[in-house]
Amino acid sequence: MKITAIRTHLLEHRLAVPFESASMRFDRRAHVLVEIVCDDGTTGWGECLGPARPNAAVVGAYTPWLVGTDPLETEKIWARLYNALRDQGQRGLALTALSGIDIALWDIKGKYFDVPVSTLLGGRFRETVRAYATGSFKRDGIDRVEDNAAEVARYHAEGFHASKIKIGFGVSEDLAVVRAVRDAVGPDMRLMVDANHGYDVLEALEFGRKAAELDIDWFEEPVVPEQLGAYREVRAGQPIPVAGGETWHSRWGMREPVETRAVDILQPDLAGVGGFTEARRVADLAALHGIRVVPHVWGTAVHIAAALQFMASMVPNPVRVNPIEPILEFDRTENPFRQAVIKTPIEHDQGVVKIPDGPGLGIEIDRDALAEFRMRDD
Ligand code: CA
Repeated sequence: MKITAIRTHLLEHRLAVPFESASMRFDRRAHVLVEIVCDDGTTGWGECLGPARPNAAVVGAYTPWLVGTDPLETEKIWARLYNALRDQGQRGLALTALSGIDIALWDIKGKYFDVPVSTLLGGRFRETVRAYATGSFKRDGIDRVEDNAAEVARYHAEGFHASKIKIGFGVSEDLAVVRAVRDAVGPDMRLMVDANHGYDVLEALEFGRKAAELDIDWFEEPVVPEQLGAYREVRAGQPIPVAGGETWHSRWGMREPVETRAVDILQPDLAGVGGFTEARRVADLAALHGIRVVPHVWGTAVHIAAALQFMASMVPNPVRVNPIEPILEFDRTENPFRQAVIKTPIEHDQGVVKIPDGPGLGIEIDRDALAEFRMRDD
């Protein structure tokens, strides 16, 4: 089998109400899918984390090293592509683009052997995962405290066991939001916070010390990802477990945060860290050091399906009678093409998501949706 073509599909939707995290404003949702076509007609799908057009450009740049190669040789292809941009790459777009390609290659491999990717990775430890609701952004012109409290109360009513709240806008306002959410949902729902690296160390310490009484499971991206010393200071100086990793790419990007224990919970993204090929190595690295892994997800159902295949294969750490189970990041913000791009949407039932068990990623792409949500040129 040989690769004959690589295509990118740029998708977008203009939001009815723009929203913000601490570090980014969203007036639209935009994601890019990668399609790899083989000479026997097999097609594999992947997705890249991050900005759609730059990712598509880098996927295009990798194409000459892909056409004519055997798609089953995932390690050889990974090494070749990584090396092709190594001197100017190593992380960022070089890795997010490579991730989308690697996911598509594993989709092809699963279809070739007629098994889900999770089986190729060593087997399925689980058929379902509990999901946590990601939302609670700052929406334009709407009071954040009331809005986020009502939003998380809805997730609670839908059966989600946990939800993540966006912070990093200012310590006192953030505390008011988290207090209001805790009051709205009661003591049992698990709550996490995500500063999207909007704080400096002093703010992160103040927030963590004051918010700890609100029973917060983790404090995600408290400070900018380049400052690993600052991460360690936040981890040592306040009681909430620290999470991070969506912007650290490849085994080399993960090594220092893991070895120096900058985080309690590592969040590799399948569509950013280097696809299945690299995520497996990163999970092993984390396990070696006793650090919990909860994959990061922010994309379409292709990205979600990749995360689910990987999560099915994650080895319990430690192995025990009642193991710690991974949980799925499940974005609930406005994005009509998130599930429309596949023919059978990946939905939750009382906060639980079934892991697809068909070949490859276990999904079928809806090409009508790709046409409907195609990015315009402006
Ligand atoms: Ca995040």
